[in-house]
Amino acid sequence: MPTFCDVALPVPLDMAFTYKIGEHQPVVGGRVLVPFRTERLSGVVTALHDRAPSMQAKAVIQVLDSEPVLDEGLMKLGQWISQYYLAPIGDVFRSMLPLAAEIKKAKLYRITEAGYEALHASATVGSSRRSRQDIDTQMVEYAVLDYLSMSDNALEGTIRSATGANRQVLDLLLRKKWIAREDATSTRDARRTVQIAVLKEVSGKLNENQQKIVTFLQQQEGKAFVEQIRTLDVPRTTLHTLVKRGVVELVEEAAEFSVSSMKKRGPSHLDFIFNAEQKAALAAVQKSVGENKFSVSLLRGVTGSGKTAVYLAAMQAVLEAGKSAILLVPEIGLTPAAAANLHQVFGDEVAILHSALSADERAEQWHRIRRGEARIVVGTRSAVFAPVTDLALLVVDEEHDSSYKQEETPRYHGRDVAVMRSKLAGAAVVLASATPSVESYHNAQAGKYRLIELKERVERRPLPEVELVDMRFEFQETGGDQIFSRQLIQEVTERLQRGEQAMILLNRRGYSSVVLCRACGETLQCKNCSIAMTYHKAAHRMECHYCGYRQAVPKRCLKCDSEHIYFLGAGSEKVEERLHAAFPQARIGRLDRDTVRSRHDFEHVLNQFHGGEINLLVGTQMIAKGHDVHGVTLVGVVGADYALGFPDFRAAERTFQLLTQVAGRAGRGEMPGKVVLQTYHPDHYAIQFAQQHDYLGFYEKEVRFRKWMHYPPFSALANVLVRSDKLDLTLRWTGQLGKWFESTRNEGVRVLGPSVAPIMRLKRDFRYHFILKAASREKLNASLRKMLTFADGEKIPRTNVIVDVDALSLL
Ligand SMILES: [Zn+2]
Ligand SMILES: [Zn+2]
Repeated sequence: MPTFCDVALPVPLDMAFTYKIGEHQPVVGGRVLVPFRTERLSGVVTALHDRAPSMQAKAVIQVLDSEPVLDEGLMKLGQWISQYYLAPIGDVFRSMLPLAAEIKKAKLYRITEAGYEALHASATVGSSRRSRQDIDTQMVEYAVLDYLSMSDNALEGTIRSATGANRQVLDLLLRKKWIAREDATSTRDARRTVQIAVLKEVSGKLNENQQKIVTFLQQQEGKAFVEQIRTLDVPRTTLHTLVKRGVVELVEEAAEFSVSSMKKRGPSHLDFIFNAEQKAALAAVQKSVGENKFSVSLLRGVTGSGKTAVYLAAMQAVLEAGKSAILLVPEIGLTPAAAANLHQVFGDEVAILHSALSADERAEQWHRIRRGEARIVVGTRSAVFAPVTDLALLVVDEEHDSSYKQEETPRYHGRDVAVMRSKLAGAAVVLASATPSVESYHNAQAGKYRLIELKERVERRPLPEVELVDMRFEFQETGGDQIFSRQLIQEVTERLQRGEQAMILLNRRGYSSVVLCRACGETLQCKNCSIAMTYHKAAHRMECHYCGYRQAVPKRCLKCDSEHIYFLGAGSEKVEERLHAAFPQARIGRLDRDTVRSRHDFEHVLNQFHGGEINLLVGTQMIAKGHDVHGVTLVGVVGADYALGFPDFRAAERTFQLLTQVAGRAGRGEMPGKVVLQTYHPDHYAIQFAQQHDYLGFYEKEVRFRKWMHYPPFSALANVLVRSDKLDLTLRWTGQLGKWFESTRNEGVRVLGPSVAPIMRLKRDFRYHFILKAASREKLNASLRKMLTFADGEKIPRTNVIVDVDALSLL
């Protein structure tokens, strides 16, 4: 029996910690509860051994799992993520396991000897002259001591409600060492349980009521929910009498998670006829799955070509073959309607993981999947870690979507992790999109990925005609700064008159995006970020869209006290207001993060749009993704190209993708669609190729630019960000790292910077960064690793140096 175990803990340190094993043996891949500094933490065991560490090892407090919660494959995947993204292994495992609900954080307080002395002293010595407030605090302090003197220990909540003490009082007492605190974090069974009555031996005579229950249980094959028995017309006590007599036994079982509207598998909606292209695509995917080995396919299908039906059919085949499949969708893609659809196709065998689940529900779903009860998993980014066995197919829908990138440690990309997971599991992975990322399409061109294409819309519906409106001329000709061009107004009017529907995309929420003083030129910035505050008219406040800071709407300039304050730039709120003015008869709806607080709101507006209660929908990129509303014949795009001005090499790609996706919403029904695209950059290639629906044209131009500039996919790229809320520390650390990068030979690694990050201040932090580019990923990785070791030696805290490998955002 090994005497020590190494444990990966969720702390920002690149190492595992060694603990002494007690009487219970942990397992590799299972969790243990261990003491760490003054806390108790749960971590995953990475190794069992007999090598005593140089320092005395503390003992494991509790073994939480008798079997691994991360199997060998997932452990390897976690190690790979930790290596590739330079993320602490404990943080990686924590992201992989949605089981936080099973740990109960608790702190216990007790009185110390000094506390007893102070309490006794207070009873004999009167207090000296002090302020009223001091006396009040002192009274509460003694109340706490008095309370604790009567019990061994107590939880913070109990003390607070019994004595009226707040956190400050407790901290004060801790500092005086009159009380002591210990971490009593423990496990809790997060499973919701139900009571079940089980029929044992029937002996002796039963009365009428007792017989009723026994008969009922016999009909239910000897087992029924206590809830069900309560519905029988017998007194409550009858069941208890039966339990006492040993006729019936009560047991607790985990409640099955159920979606309230979940139905048994009905007729599948996949029974419709596939066209020739779809058939060929399905055959290609099934062939890859049938090989039982790792392969990557890129499924590129124009908007409206029926990609979803193809991969759902492939997943259904996997389920029928007794294996498992995972489908990843972007954050916005999992509407309740989509979920209902999935239940239709997969019945009870689908687990749906979305952001609206509580921690308990998340843990429950995880156990369902692990027990093999749900072999189809659909979810956002982290569903890539779902503990399915026999994984045969992994699908990443809208693989280009940036929501697959996690923007906190570990900064992994869900699509790339999906590819690695499939590789480790020997499974097929399908990346699907109308606008694949340049990286993925490049891999397909290079022969690394298999390319499957759907070039036509279903039923040969045409792609919408896209008309560009040059807003520079519009301004010259109308002499005003209009949000809507005359062309767009006219087209919307026509559609509404014909009883059709229209959508307007504006990728900015709020009312005005800039508040400017015309006397001194000052713009109102967030106090935590170097970002202009956005004016929200309905809520009547200013809001920072980066950190959420809010403040009152200024009446005068905060700098020069002038009254000449102007609100510039249009957001979705303003567009909605202007639409009401321009089309008083229209039934207008809005979808953005201000109107959508929950999945329910989202669904509600979409349903109204589907049902025709709304005929003009305005919104941010939320409206661009995946919705299939057949009545939409016009899509207006207002100011979607402002992102082209961002200092970001992916700006063109993002703009092209957004425009193509939103244009794809038009003309999905019987009537052909049209797109009116207002732009200040009509000659930009992203705009030009979007107008032509020419993905390949865009790709070829973009890939040349990437090659020339040594950007991905022609180099590996990482962003190293130094941040701190103290400017002097940020500058000092940045300088130290800059000198290190200069003095060390990082052969084959180009280091750009240090420079001020495009967003210099964010959430109170000052930010400087380096951009690293290398032809060899190994060299980049080695260089970053050395840099982190150096930073550690210089005592620069790990949380202040952010390493973002394959960064999507360089802001
Ligand atoms: Zn001013
Ligand atoms: Zn802010």
